[in-house]
Amino acid sequence: MTKWVYSFGAGLNEGRADMRNLLGGKGANLAEMASIDLPVPPGFTITTELCTAFYKNNRQYPDDLAGQVEAALARIETAVGRSFGDPKMPLLVSVRSGARVSMPGMMDTVLNLGLNDETVLGLVETSGDPRFAWDSFRRFIQMFGSVVLGVDHHRFEEIIESVKIDTGAIEDTALSPEDWQRVVEEYKELVLEETGKPFPMSPKDQLWAAIGAVFGSWMNPRANTYRRLHDIPADWGTAVNVQAMVFGNMGSDCATGVCFTRDPSTGENMFYGEFLVNAQGEDVVAGIRTPQPLSKAAAKSGEVSMEDALPDAYADLCRVRETLERHYHDMQDIEFTVQQNKLYMLQTRTGKRTAAASLRIAVEMAQGGLITRQEAVMRVNAQALDQLLHPTLDPKAPRTLLSKGLPASPGAASGAVVFSADDAEMRAAKGEAVILVRIETSPEDIHGMHAARGILTTRGGMTSHAAVVARGMGRACVAGAGGVSVDYGARTLSAGGKTIRGGETITIDGATGEIFVGSVATVEPTMSGDFATLMEWADASRRLKIRTNAETPLDAETARKFGAEGIGLCRTEHMFFAPERIGAVRQMIMAGDEAGRRVALEKLLPFQRQDFIELFRIMAGLPVTIRLLDPPLHEFLPHGDQEIADVAEALGQDVEQMRRRAAELAEANPMLGHRGCRLGISYPEIYEMQARAIFEAALAIAEETGHPVVPEIMIPLVGTRRELEITRAQVERVAKEVLDRSGKPIDYLIGTMIELPRAALTADKIAEVADFFSFGTNDLTQTTFGLSRDDAGKFLPHYVEAGILPKDPFVSLDIEGVGALVRIAVEKGRATKPNIKLGICGEHGGDPASIAFCESVGLDYVSCSPYRVPVARLAAAQAALGGE
Ligand code: ADP
Ligand code: MG
Ligand code: MG
Repeated sequence: MTKWVYSFGAGLNEGRADMRNLLGGKGANLAEMASIDLPVPPGFTITTELCTAFYKNNRQYPDDLAGQVEAALARIETAVGRSFGDPKMPLLVSVRSGARVSMPGMMDTVLNLGLNDETVLGLVETSGDPRFAWDSFRRFIQMFGSVVLGVDHHRFEEIIESVKIDTGAIEDTALSPEDWQRVVEEYKELVLEETGKPFPMSPKDQLWAAIGAVFGSWMNPRANTYRRLHDIPADWGTAVNVQAMVFGNMGSDCATGVCFTRDPSTGENMFYGEFLVNAQGEDVVAGIRTPQPLSKAAAKSGEVSMEDALPDAYADLCRVRETLERHYHDMQDIEFTVQQNKLYMLQTRTGKRTAAASLRIAVEMAQGGLITRQEAVMRVNAQALDQLLHPTLDPKAPRTLLSKGLPASPGAASGAVVFSADDAEMRAAKGEAVILVRIETSPEDIHGMHAARGILTTRGGMTSHAAVVARGMGRACVAGAGGVSVDYGARTLSAGGKTIRGGETITIDGATGEIFVGSVATVEPTMSGDFATLMEWADASRRLKIRTNAETPLDAETARKFGAEGIGLCRTEHMFFAPERIGAVRQMIMAGDEAGRRVALEKLLPFQRQDFIELFRIMAGLPVTIRLLDPPLHEFLPHGDQEIADVAEALGQDVEQMRRRAAELAEANPMLGHRGCRLGISYPEIYEMQARAIFEAALAIAEETGHPVVPEIMIPLVGTRRELEITRAQVERVAKEVLDRSGKPIDYLIGTMIELPRAALTADKIAEVADFFSFGTNDLTQTTFGLSRDDAGKFLPHYVEAGILPKDPFVSLDIEGVGALVRIAVEKGRATKPNIKLGICGEHGGDPASIAFCESVGLDYVSCSPYRVPVARLAAAQAALGGE
């Protein structure tokens, strides 16, 4: 017999936190909390395996499920002293979904299940509170009606609204028992009208229908979208939790709330959350009433904190906060209810947080001894670190404030206003920056939130759907901007007498909650002390060195500031395009013979030398890898008749001759054409000039700073040993000449990029003449797949979408194919030369998954763009720690 049902609470805890795959996160943590004696209402969890079995078996339950559910339900009845469907002492339960990872709003919870025309009277009797009983019954019909029976929830809201108008009530809490009774009657009619059947009155039927709805919703379109966006496999399944109800809506000594054990936006170590007196759980999230802060310290004037309203329950909650952090060693996101001053815990999970918060929490928890430094390093998502390195609003930039909402997810974003998720997706696909503006968001909007730079809502608090999802995605978000009104029909938003139309630009600041008209200038981020601390800990754990790809002094400076330990790729061709040089470059290309080329190269030499002097000054004492000229020469030629004529005139050459030479240089397939070392072999004087510039600059900087760089001269696109042997000899001849003349030695290396499959496969031979290999994984990916990066846009996105390739291989290294070649080259290279230096300089050098691969094959360094350097430092540490 398979065990499908696991009990928790009231002294029987069959689950544990580490059983989340089987019990879902919610179920596993309810059992865990109960097992450390926190007050959890008793219940049971139906496993995710049941969900999988249900779908395998044509949406049928296995025979032995019903008996297990009955038994677990009977245990709750005994524990609570109430019976399911009993007209005198009715037991009410909640039915809650819960997958392995939380999927916000995917499946809605049904509360107060077990109520019907008879049991509601029992509830009136036992509670002595008719308002509460009828309020609970209408909540139940409303939730069950919309979640299970599929009646549009607005229809229910309309009924309440009309009763409120009739009675003149403003808040729901002002309605009398009779008012609620009337709502219930109208709800029942609505259900009959909409579904053609009366509302189900048998609690058992209600229970099975609700369980079925949860399992059924695992495959609904919203859930499918969310899973696709977050790489969650469909066969994980969801669990269902059935739990005895506790009531936050029994009066003023009752409440419900959600909170984080630390501030999820900033990471500050303060209790952070919202609660509502006399309410049930869904009220807080739905934004029907304005939630109040937990602590006195956080309460603004006019707000009543939980600390004031329910001091005893608040004190209990503070103790729970301590216990949970000590137990889970991480920041928790918790849900609770207070029934008649008694606190009950309904959920805990690892809290979602911004990158900034994640960093601060990790560092402070390690400093506080709750976790180790290594754990802190592992805690921060390397990819997300990127967010911290992004711009915020320039404090000095002029701006026009439109309105203000809650600072729900930090970061500043400007963009065109759009009012629907579909619009956001469409315009973003065209490369436009958009801000998605909604009254509130729901799971149907996720694709649009993903596409937008920022999200603005006019309703809902810091724990609303928009806020939670935006923080998870790293999007800027201002939520609950009550002063802004949105008219979907007219496609406008207005505030304080100003109206903004769809398509016009606004700027939001998710750190302050401010909304501005137009776009506002931004500034580079400054890194907090926590950032430096974490980086220090990461550096202590990593083995891989981190270099940067840089050719300008600005890039090099940025990278050093971020902790780069050298340059892994300086692309010299970028230095040839500047206006004062391109003439000489073109003259060199146009020259008919070597002598003519040498004249032109003579003019380029001082420019190149000066470029290297500037770079070497910044990188003094560190290695700098310089790639000699790589692209096909025609890339430097003028295009179009006018340009050709201009250049011909400037060079004093004949237009026709120029045209002919350009035609000669044209290639059918330049990516595989006359480029890289092939140029160096055809025109040795080019590499000679570059080598001379490098060595002369190295000498100058050694003299100037006393800290020589170690030039690593890199020959591109080598496919055979002989190619490298020839070009190496050219460089060595120049080195000897320059260094002999100066009488001072400079350490240098000569090596090659491994970017052709043939080079990888014959790396043992190539290593005989190479001091280092640098994997040029951009070209290696192109040549391994036989796929040009410039043309891939037409089909590659579809490949990724359809799962033909797991990821874009230009973003994350194809470990299976390209990685196999890297592995072969590493092994063969080391077989010939055990100490050969190995690095990677493709885009992949800044991708955490690719960095983990580089660690596993034992490369010496990765090189990435300047802004990725911190990401790479952290990812390298995580790779080293994870591999232990
Ligand atoms: P979600 O996954 O959307 O947060 P939950 O299953 O956590 O859904 O339920 C939402 C809210 O419903 C909870 O935060 C809690 O306030 C309330 N709730 C759930 N179960 C119970 C219960 N047994 N008693 C009282 N309130 C409950
Ligand atoms: Mg919840
Ligand atoms: Mg290349």
